[in-house]
Amino acid sequence: MKVLRYSAVRTLTLEETPDPTPQSHEVRVRILATGICGSDIHGYLGLQARRQPGLILGHETVGIVESVGDSANEHLVGTRVSVNPLVSCGHCPMCLAGRQSVCADWFLIGLDLVNGAMADFVCVPARNVIPIPDSVSDKAAVMIEPLANGVHLLGMVPTYAGTFPDVLILGGGTLGAATLAVAVARGWNVIGVVEPNPMRAAVMLKIGAPRVFDSRSETIDAEILEATNGLGPSVIADCVGRSAARQLACRVAAKGATILLLGMDEGVTEIDFIHIVRREIRLQCSYTYTAADYNTAIDLIVTGKANFEPWTDSAPLSDGMAQFERLITNPQDRLKIALIP
Ligand SMILES: [Zn+2]
Ligand SMILES: [Zn+2]
Repeated sequence: MKVLRYSAVRTLTLEETPDPTPQSHEVRVRILATGICGSDIHGYLGLQARRQPGLILGHETVGIVESVGDSANEHLVGTRVSVNPLVSCGHCPMCLAGRQSVCADWFLIGLDLVNGAMADFVCVPARNVIPIPDSVSDKAAVMIEPLANGVHLLGMVPTYAGTFPDVLILGGGTLGAATLAVAVARGWNVIGVVEPNPMRAAVMLKIGAPRVFDSRSETIDAEILEATNGLGPSVIADCVGRSAARQLACRVAAKGATILLLGMDEGVTEIDFIHIVRREIRLQCSYTYTAADYNTAIDLIVTGKANFEPWTDSAPLSDGMAQFERLITNPQDRLKIALIP
């Protein structure tokens, strides 16, 4: 099969390798499209320990089950599926509680030593493929996985009887867009998105943000407070992961607010804990998603409540390296690029 291998820092190479054979619990999926994730780009730039040269990247994928390792899964052959790339152990206490995102022993395709889906085929456990209707295009389907991150993120907010939380989203990239779409679909009171790039700001307005705050504004704290009657947002979702965003969130959050932390651009951030302890701010980290979140993301795409197709491009897998470079140097208003083998 053809694979696009991450062969050296900032280099992807198209190679021929033997077709993979599914193990007994697995199915082999013929890939139709795989999205380029920000995390793939981090790996490609040599900025991520868990994505080293030699690996085949890609975990946002859609395809057709072509063969199965066990005849018990024969009924799946020929089915078009979304691949949940998070393979949990299925039997630890967290998995049994439905919290696969904190499974003691999970792995993700396209991470560490597990090859991903920028290839003709990928083998995954049969329980990780979910049939999707023909009405969902391949381009739409590659956004299911990023969207699942947004579903999980907002699912971390405590629910208060009778109120819809008001939420401010930091970052208008792919994860910011995914989180915004989930908030809009759920009828939350979206205050706005903080994003400096005008092209991305325009996308956020189209997805349903009532306004966009420019993070470079010197009066941004006052602007956010003014938009919330001086109280500050009760939920802030950080889809950036840099110190400036985390510190902004801690400064403007309402008393008793929840700050959701999803972005991971920077590891270390200085926070004034006296300020946030006194205000009873809850810091809630979120990473990946559960199987239930993944299914919810599929529902949002199938019903059209989340639609990112106007900002998704597709390109041949063989052109993958140029597409990575394009996302690094000039993404414009593109939220996703789907690579087609
Ligand atoms: Zn991803
Ligand atoms: Zn587990």
